[in-house]
Amino acid sequence: MQLIVATRNTHKTREIEQILGSSLAAQDLTAHPEISEITEDGTSFEENATLKAIAVSEKLPGLVIADDSGLEVEALGGAPGIYSARYAGANASDKEKIAKLLKQLAKVDAKRDQRRARFRCVLAVARDGRILATVEGVVKGKIAQRPRGSHGFGYDPIFIPDGFEETFAELPEQLKNNISHRAKAIRKLQAKLPTLCGEV
Ligand code: IMP
Repeated sequence: MQLIVATRNTHKTREIEQILGSSLAAQDLTAHPEISEITEDGTSFEENATLKAIAVSEKLPGLVIADDSGLEVEALGGAPGIYSARYAGANASDKEKIAKLLKQLAKVDAKRDQRRARFRCVLAVARDGRILATVEGVVKGKIAQRPRGSHGFGYDPIFIPDGFEETFAELPEQLKNNISHRAKAIRKLQAKLPTLCGEV
């Protein structure tokens, strides 16, 4: 069956497809230019994922899955959190976001053991404007001293997951997609999919 991923971030779509394997065909909003940008004005990952899933499922048939995710840094009181995408301004590049985060962290003089961080991902699934399920995945780790690696997207070059020395951007994509916040959330969702697909 067709699954719509409510994003124009092709990195997210690719990761979701890789994690799901061949069980479902996913299409994202790059195939639907008629759907306008959704304002993410919720106060939590769950609220933002929910409002994206509802808005898109009111316009497109089938199961719609929305991902709201971000990086929470302990020494920064959980920032950038839900503001991860626009941390350095609406049109800032990943490099600029990373530079701002490292600068902020340097300001609070974060020692090695104060660089704790976690990626969080909330997935919301909706159909015909109604939420069917929400799930959350978290991966814990720490912030690297400087960006390393070229895989992935966003803050991957500065996130070192627990149990590894490499950043997400240095690890093979398949490995990230096995241990990431998104992978954990999708696995929880996969357990619910047979019931959800049955409802369509
Ligand atoms: P949103 O969910 O579209 O609001 O944006 C999430 C933002 O969080 C992305 O633009 C990235 O900056 C960051 N982010 C979320 N997941 C990941 C990930 O797996 N790796 C690196 N950065 C991520």
